[in-house]
Amino acid sequence: MASALRELTRMTSKPLAWPGTLSNSDASGAAARSSSIIGLSKERRAIHCIFRGYGTAPLKVLILAGQHGDESPAQRSLGSLLAVDAGELARQLPRLQVAVIPEANPDGCAVRCRYNAEGIDLNRDHQLLRGGETEVIHQLVRRWRPQVILDLHSYPSRRRHLLQRGMVLDHDVFFDVPNHPAILARPGSLNPAELLRQLLRAVADQRVRAARYTIVTSSGRARHSTPDVVEALNGLALRYGAFTVLVENRQPRRDETTAERSRLQAAQARALLVLLEWLDRHHELFLPLRTLGPPPPGTLVPVGFKYTDEGKGLSIVCRDIVRGRRVSIRFSRYSGSVSSRCSVALPAGYAVPDELTALRAVLRRHGFVPAQYGGCGLCSVQKLRIERACPSRRPGRSARHLVLSSHPMRVELDRYELFSTRQRGGEALTVFLEPQSKHGLHRFAELEIPLRAPSWYPVLRVLGSERETEPQPVEAEHRRSLRAANLCAPS
Ligand SMILES: [Zn+2]
Repeated sequence: MASALRELTRMTSKPLAWPGTLSNSDASGAAARSSSIIGLSKERRAIHCIFRGYGTAPLKVLILAGQHGDESPAQRSLGSLLAVDAGELARQLPRLQVAVIPEANPDGCAVRCRYNAEGIDLNRDHQLLRGGETEVIHQLVRRWRPQVILDLHSYPSRRRHLLQRGMVLDHDVFFDVPNHPAILARPGSLNPAELLRQLLRAVADQRVRAARYTIVTSSGRARHSTPDVVEALNGLALRYGAFTVLVENRQPRRDETTAERSRLQAAQARALLVLLEWLDRHHELFLPLRTLGPPPPGTLVPVGFKYTDEGKGLSIVCRDIVRGRRVSIRFSRYSGSVSSRCSVALPAGYAVPDELTALRAVLRRHGFVPAQYGGCGLCSVQKLRIERACPSRRPGRSARHLVLSSHPMRVELDRYELFSTRQRGGEALTVFLEPQSKHGLHRFAELEIPLRAPSWYPVLRVLGSERETEPQPVEAEHRRSLRAANLCAPS
């Protein structure tokens, strides 16, 4: 399939000017192409979103690129895709609607800088949403509701720990899938690891050198993507229930010839197309994600976990820089997966004190619908007391050795804002707000929720009697939230 498309993607090696892409004349009709400006950067550059495919196609795929403004290989493979005639692409991928944000960070892209104009790394900003550009991405995801998100990046082949062994990384592309244990977005009956294997096989069949994204830490330990929700990979999957795929394109090495660079670019463009073809063929796996709701109250949400060492080690193919050959090297210390160590039963909601304005602002930027206290008397809550905590000296890390005691009580909530967990992504509130959460918002000093012992943790778990166990359509989110605000109301 799509050999003509492959031919086209082989031809295009230069990044395109995105607005130029928009003005290409095309006879295939509006159904197959359109574009819009979805927001502005700090320096008031437009953030474009380009649409491809038929508006009636069942699977929505968002391709997110240019969060880091200095990653031209990812931009090039995207340029190749957008250079394909829109009507032809829609015919070849009939079950996909594709939205492309080619430059999520236009200020950074304009000066080839990783960060935005405020010095924010957008791909470390998917929890706080401090950057306006990150907020624009989240707004689009909430509005357009893709079931699948491809997050495009580029990686350097030279890594210090490998150079010491005379090696550089040599894969054309790395892929990875979400691994935070609280993420519910699962593609049908497949587990994400199996899906990843299938994707890698599909691109390998097209002569692309591909593997699961792997890094080797300074201690010599090999692992895959971090489960941290500050990155788009886990952050968007947790918050919106979309299945995300990380695509890392290798940056060409200085010693590569023009022919080798052309092969690399063509392989990367092909990998993106094969990925889309695979999604088109297996679209049914992802369709249920559209109606994915939060789990019922009481469901255990994993919030603490650690890397699990796998005794068999990991072998990856690298390039020997002296001999110029590809060789397999083995890392005996391999943290292949994460295992859950601490879970919290999902409460009906959380009550956030009015004075925690920065925290409430973050939750609002995430689109969580708050509901004001309805003046309904005393409400059943759990208040948590921090008995012991060792604050981490590293910024952005949670306190360690936390010991909590839980105190049921009935309190007035007139000075709190309530966030029901019975809204889309409600389980993310548990990851964000529980003090034991490895990726809780308390780890950011600017939110002023320090974990000190002894003290009372300011956010309350709201208990309720809601028994809605079925996933709820998103349209009912607001109504449900309002109902949750009256959890304490006498019936
Ligand atoms: Zn990147």
